Amino acid sequence: MKRVLITGAAGFLGSHLCDKFIDNGYQVVGMDNLITGNLENIEHLFPNKNFEFYHHDVSKFVHVSGQIDYILHFASPASPIDYLKIPIQTLKVGSLGTHNLLGFAKAKNARILVASTSEIYGDPDVHPQKEEYWGNVNSVGPRGVYDEAKRFQEAITMAYHTYHGLETRMVRIFNTYGPRMRLDDGRALPAFMSQALEGKDLTVFGDGSQTRSFCYVDDLIEGIYRLLLSDYALPVNIGNPSEITIKDFAEEIIKLTGTENKVIYKPLPKDDPKQRCPDITKAKEILGWEPKVDRAEGLKRTYEFFKQKLNK
Ligand code: UDP
Repeated sequence: MKRVLITGAAGFLGSHLCDKFIDNGYQVVGMDNLITGNLENIEHLFPNKNFEFYHHDVSKFVHVSGQIDYILHFASPASPIDYLKIPIQTLKVGSLGTHNLLGFAKAKNARILVASTSEIYGDPDVHPQKEEYWGNVNSVGPRGVYDEAKRFQEAITMAYHTYHGLETRMVRIFNTYGPRMRLDDGRALPAFMSQALEGKDLTVFGDGSQTRSFCYVDDLIEGIYRLLLSDYALPVNIGNPSEITIKDFAEEIIKLTGTENKVIYKPLPKDDPKQRCPDITKAKEILGWEPKVDRAEGLKRTYEFFKQKLNK
């Protein structure tokens, strides 16, 4: 049986990865410092004999005894309001945390996959974004703490690959949504859905003409799983190329929820990317992967989750 370490295990993506690996017959060691993660997301896994959990901050020395075959590093604040609230921790988990996990991977002779992001492209002036595009990031802007930590993460991961021959994988994750997102994480989808459910107007930032491309979580997790098991060490975009303006996205959620509330406009946060859409040619060619769940279906499933969560 293969044994896999998943950092950020109690978070949105980390918890779905734990489920995926348990379902596929792996032993899973989850690790999380629970700053933005929530044990509720993995509560159902604790009775499973193939699941263990460590409450630990990976910015500090990481050790787990016994065999580890794969490591997936998904620990990090990931929503703009989180990383603005805890900028130093965000920088540390992407830099020191990644360094610790790379060292740990080397000691265990394990393969490591790190969670990178479309944010490494910054406010892109190439559209859609291909992996070869180097990006347009303001290092000293408010988003720099996340973007530059993730850029450093890619650089040090590549260095361990090149200089130590470590088996490494890098996924560049575009906007993802689905059950287990935090209602209060400030991102567009949880914000709009919780506003609709709580009888508030939906707050669109700027004029709402900025675009994003939203991928349903199950599709993303399948892409990550395939990338881990592939032999491709350079970064791969995983996301859904179906692009939409934020204003239209808010309107879709108004229609879905049947709310009487309207869109209201608030100031655009500094350095908010104007457009974002993944070029997924590489994922198609190398992993035979493309998204399967369209936005109408994904939003419906997510809305059911948020409704239940709020009723609780
Ligand atoms: N956004 C918005 N209203 C909100 C939250 C976000 O209009 O209440 C906008 C935000 O300015 C951005 C887009 O929605 O243009 C996506 O924001 P999110 O925080 O979800 O992700 P990111 O900016 O990291 O892609």
